[in-house]
Amino acid sequence: MALVDDSSWDVVVLGGGLAGLRAASVAAAAGASVLLLEKLDRLGGSSALSAGMFWTAPDLAAYRQRVPHGDVELAARLIAQYEGDLAAIRESGVHVDAEPTLGVMGDFGRGYSFDVRSYLDVLTARLYACGGTVRTGVSTLEIERTGGHRFLVRTETAAGPAEIRASAVVLATGGFQASPELRAAHMPAVGADIALRSNRGSEGDGLRLASSLGAGLAGDLGTFYGHLVPHPVAGFTPEKYMVFSQYYSSHGILVAADGRRFADESRGDEILNQDLAEVDGMTAFLLFDEEVRSTYGVAEPFANFGRVDRFEFAVAGGARHATADTLDELVRRLGALGVDADQLTRTLAGDVEPSHLARRVSRAAPPTTRQLAKLRRGPFHALEVQPAITFTLGGIAVDADLSVRGQAGERIDGLYAVGADIGGFNNYGYAGGLAPAHLTGSIAGRAAARRTLGAPAVALAGAREGEAC
Ligand SMILES: Cc1cc2nc3c(=O)[nH]c(=O)nc-3n(C[C@H](O)[C@H](O)[C@H](O)COP(=O)(O)OP(=O)(O)OC[C@H]3O[C@@H](n4cnc5c(N)ncnc54)[C@H](O)[C@@H]3O)c2cc1C
Repeated sequence: MALVDDSSWDVVVLGGGLAGLRAASVAAAAGASVLLLEKLDRLGGSSALSAGMFWTAPDLAAYRQRVPHGDVELAARLIAQYEGDLAAIRESGVHVDAEPTLGVMGDFGRGYSFDVRSYLDVLTARLYACGGTVRTGVSTLEIERTGGHRFLVRTETAAGPAEIRASAVVLATGGFQASPELRAAHMPAVGADIALRSNRGSEGDGLRLASSLGAGLAGDLGTFYGHLVPHPVAGFTPEKYMVFSQYYSSHGILVAADGRRFADESRGDEILNQDLAEVDGMTAFLLFDEEVRSTYGVAEPFANFGRVDRFEFAVAGGARHATADTLDELVRRLGALGVDADQLTRTLAGDVEPSHLARRVSRAAPPTTRQLAKLRRGPFHALEVQPAITFTLGGIAVDADLSVRGQAGERIDGLYAVGADIGGFNNYGYAGGLAPAHLTGSIAGRAAARRTLGAPAVALAGAREGEAC
């Protein structure tokens, strides 16, 4: 079959989320010829579905505490460049809140809410203005190394196959959460069945293509970011991802079907979400009191999000639930829903032996009696929940300029990975998705442009960032 495209570029970027668009627009503004390929029919990825909180750890000590096994070098860079990246977003003219939001993800992060969708449009417009090209609906089958340190990118579209040449390739495909096969291979605890809280295109193409070129892996591939969502949940569509997310679960207790708890719930919903994935059956009841429902349960998780009664919303979405004036009555009702009521009574009286259904949990901090004090006054509620996956935290190994590293640690020249494709910045603990996507996109975009243009030209372009080309 004839090729529909045999063009040649300085930089080819795979993936049109924040990391890919940022890399592509920075490379194009530096003077490189850039082609951005997006697999789905529209740009944006999970970035466009996100809450737009540009955040991370306030300092390195907080990062180390929250992500003890994380990539400290990248974190130090992100924290140091955070204000500069934020300023670049402000200068683009999109809305950024004047005041920071403190306590993102519980008591931990610091960030600013911004209009992420408009910013993605700004980056796209910049890419076009600087001579870049965007093609959507393109799947990449393989990447081959050719002579002269170049790459051959073989793609497939509805119109037919293409072979595109590039001096540099940036992998920005957003992780492997949307692939049941890769989840089953790399995340034995999670497996193929878990609710997807992400764009549907992030099927691990970056990981697959990098691996075929000898890439090494970084971070714990079994870990992932996401939030607890109701079970069952009808209509779990992208515009409802956030209202179905039970951000407040650290103010309740989580009980498995055997009536026992399996983790210290105070550590935060994004941690509990991973712990529950390791409980047989992957469901539990979240117990909380009326005060929690009417405060944390309706509060905005992020600035500009809006208040919503998450319990009521979950019930309307078909979740199994119970409400009772007393804890004794709640236990009886949960017994009718299949929870071991005798054990639940002992659990509420202070038995903290972890659930026998949670045999696989290796990381979870054990339950504490302290958390039980959060069930203060009736009425009490119970909501059945399940884990949901937003993006994978383990992935491709990279070095300081986001060059992909081979299995022996060597640099794979000209191949870069960014955003949720890289492994180890988040690692069970979570310190942000958009800010690292932006930073890694900037670094890789510049490095990829430098390959063909040379360092002085790219440095000059960096100084006039944001101007039209
Ligand atoms: C509901 C929700 C709320 C969130 N809220 C926040 C928040 O407030 N703050 C925060 O920091 N993080 C948040 N996140 C996480 C954040 O969105 C991600 O960490 C970030 O968007 C990752 O950016 P990315 O560019 O790496 O991936 P994405 O934005 O997901 O982009 C990846 C793109 O690559 C495409 N792709 C896949 N394979 C290929 C291929 N072979 N060729 C071409 N294209 C391909 C995909 O279709 C997709 O468009 C949220 C996520 C969700 C889903």
